[in-house]
Amino acid sequence: MIKILYAAKPEEFEAYQGYINAGLSELGIENTIVEKSDNPAGIDYIIYAPSSSLQDFTAFTNTKLVQNLWAGVETTVGNKTLTQPFARMVEFGLKQGMIEYVTGHVLRHHLDTDFFAKQKPGVWRDDHVPPLTRDRVVGVLGLGALGQACAESLATLGFQVMGWSRSPKTIENITCLNGESGLKTLLGQAEIIVLLLPNTPATHHIIDAESISMMKEGAAIINPGRGSLINDDALLDALDSGHISAATLDVFATEPLPADHPYWAHSNVLVTPHVASATRIETATQTVIENIRRGEAGEEFLHLVDRDLGY
Ligand code: NDP
Repeated sequence: MIKILYAAKPEEFEAYQGYINAGLSELGIENTIVEKSDNPAGIDYIIYAPSSSLQDFTAFTNTKLVQNLWAGVETTVGNKTLTQPFARMVEFGLKQGMIEYVTGHVLRHHLDTDFFAKQKPGVWRDDHVPPLTRDRVVGVLGLGALGQACAESLATLGFQVMGWSRSPKTIENITCLNGESGLKTLLGQAEIIVLLLPNTPATHHIIDAESISMMKEGAAIINPGRGSLINDDALLDALDSGHISAATLDVFATEPLPADHPYWAHSNVLVTPHVASATRIETATQTVIENIRRGEAGEEFLHLVDRDLGY
């Protein structure tokens, strides 16, 4: 009988418990899932959300895996007490939600929907015909679970997609770039730039005055990655000068975004409140179940976090 500790949103406990208990039982893995335990050394697996009160993992001496329910791990990766294997969340629902958010907002910028939304009633502007997707270059920074899925979806719509990652990649229909020169190439050619990088020391303020100056005049930025990726003062300057035509921002250095932050009132900024995507219980439990199955079979876990890289 394996023992699983659930350390995440209390209101979602019963749903997670139900799906995981049923899924593991089907595999013949007897299990019990608890919200509290007086015997941390008896816990085999922890299902975890960084917002939970569990922050000290020292007593969990026999835990085989801490399975995060979030994709982002920046608030946990530096936790020195967390020495157990630590996996981030990769799952269908999170990916699908991000594909829908990114394609929706890329199309909004591509079709210049805001231009028409801002027209005065009665003004007939039939001179503003958008180009075809095949004539539009979209850049995606980050080609991980989410970035690659979004890049592929955009390529299916016909966009010329350039992607950038830390390590070299080959993905059908995507121009894959890496390194500083690759970033420069992407920034110089993309008209819509999507940020799907993790928050690490290496990605902090990757969008600053210098990188913005490499972007095409009138480029648009979509950031569902992390607020730390953008130097806000530099982006606001570029929005004010018109060098950046528009920004769709879902994540911020401080969340909730303070009520007096200039992003709220800027006519060329659309603020969404960290809703680009979310872990969906029904599909996320499949990832949890598969990783526990692997743990019990002595196989390698999926989606382990690299503590040195920070993601
Ligand atoms: P992954 O870890 O799968 O992918 C990260 C990607 O970023 C990889 O392609 C990686 O390169 C690349 N990368 C990391 N560091 C660098 C660097 N220094 N230079 C260049 N490329 C780099 O993450 P996910 O795709 O699952 O998620 C991405 C981010 O999306 C999360 O970290 C989180 O911050 C955010 N997110 C936001 C949500 C929202 O609702 N707004 C919801 C879920 C996630 P390589 O492939 O070479 O390793």
